[in-house]
Amino acid sequence: MARIVVLGSGREVGRAAILVESRGRGLLLDYGVNFDENDRPIFPGDVRPRDLDAVVLTHSHLDHVGAAPYLYSSVAPKLYATKITLEVTRLLLLDMIKLNGAYLPFDEKSVDDMLAAAEAVEYEQEVEAGGFSFKLLYSGHIPGSASVLVEVEGRRILYTSDVNVIDAKLVSPAKLNGVKADVVIIESTYGATNHPPRREVEERFYRSVKEVVESGGTVLVPAFSVARGQEIASILAERDFSHPVWIDGMIRQVAEVYAAHYKYLYLPSLLLKALSEFNVVRGWQDRKKALKKPGVIIASAGMLKGGPSLYYMKKMAADKKNAVFLVSYQAAGTPGRMILEEGVFGEERIPVMARVEWFDFSSHIDQRGILQLLRKINGVEKVVLVHGEPRAQKVLAAKIKEELGIEDVEIPANGDVIEI
Ligand SMILES: [Zn+2]
Ligand SMILES: [Zn+2]
Repeated sequence: MARIVVLGSGREVGRAAILVESRGRGLLLDYGVNFDENDRPIFPGDVRPRDLDAVVLTHSHLDHVGAAPYLYSSVAPKLYATKITLEVTRLLLLDMIKLNGAYLPFDEKSVDDMLAAAEAVEYEQEVEAGGFSFKLLYSGHIPGSASVLVEVEGRRILYTSDVNVIDAKLVSPAKLNGVKADVVIIESTYGATNHPPRREVEERFYRSVKEVVESGGTVLVPAFSVARGQEIASILAERDFSHPVWIDGMIRQVAEVYAAHYKYLYLPSLLLKALSEFNVVRGWQDRKKALKKPGVIIASAGMLKGGPSLYYMKKMAADKKNAVFLVSYQAAGTPGRMILEEGVFGEERIPVMARVEWFDFSSHIDQRGILQLLRKINGVEKVVLVHGEPRAQKVLAAKIKEELGIEDVEIPANGDVIEI
């Protein structure tokens, strides 16, 4: 009998790590980290690399790839991901080592060893690894992201990983309709809530940006380096925004990888236009220039925990003509959350006079989307909810039973084993 072992993302958002086991061998789906309140990485449960037939990385977010190099210190299990995932993962891991190296059980060499064992695969390509066969399917979360359909001992397991079903600029809806799966392991980050329609969020964002800039202010958009920053740039490019736009931090490096692999993008022309028309910050002189004229500055990091967005925030916070528009989830205890909830900034608790707004550009599927997605998958006997808070997971489990009539819905904790 095959087994699913939840090594991470059990009753928590992030730290994804799902082991599929059969006859003493394993296929590991993701191996990510979370960060504690002191910004130290927290690892998923242990797995012996020599027992693995392969590792699959679904997408280049640290909560899915951040622990993976740890598996490559002695043996080197084969690694599979899309090409763009491998390239962005490399950037992210090297950045994490730079910031957190002292707390990590691996270094740059492990990243090199890991990438040396990697094979880039395309969506829908059949892969055989030991007793497992699998393929990556388009998941609509970020460029290059994938769900994984695994076949083992005659059973079919669909691991959606982070997934979305809306039209954004960089990605289009997941292509999972009509897939046949006995077991679906699905994210439940927004299991209890629904996002407003994306088009409305884009319009409100653009209107607000114009208001601020046309009244002589500058808009700071702190954004995640992977996908969110490039999505915001694409939205401005689509509307022929006529004021200066600056792109700063790792957002630029990732944008260049995306541009080099533009066939992975849904609307590549928008990002290419942004890269050719907007200003890229290359040093301190540019940073000062960016603040001189009204415009928009898209800068890493998304929760203002570091990176150039912190520098701009300090310069801009005191002027009520300016604005800071948050476009990402703001975790508890981050400077971004403090700005939103208390209107103050940093340890000195500087009052923020600039206009503050939050926009729901989430790249995670919501409750309505999850139900719609599950309805389109054939033969589902069991649903396993991961990557979510227990409260949202309970609400979602009840909905799945009630609306889809699937009785077998599990909410495993980390360390739980599910026999299939
Ligand atoms: Zn995730
Ligand atoms: Zn993700």
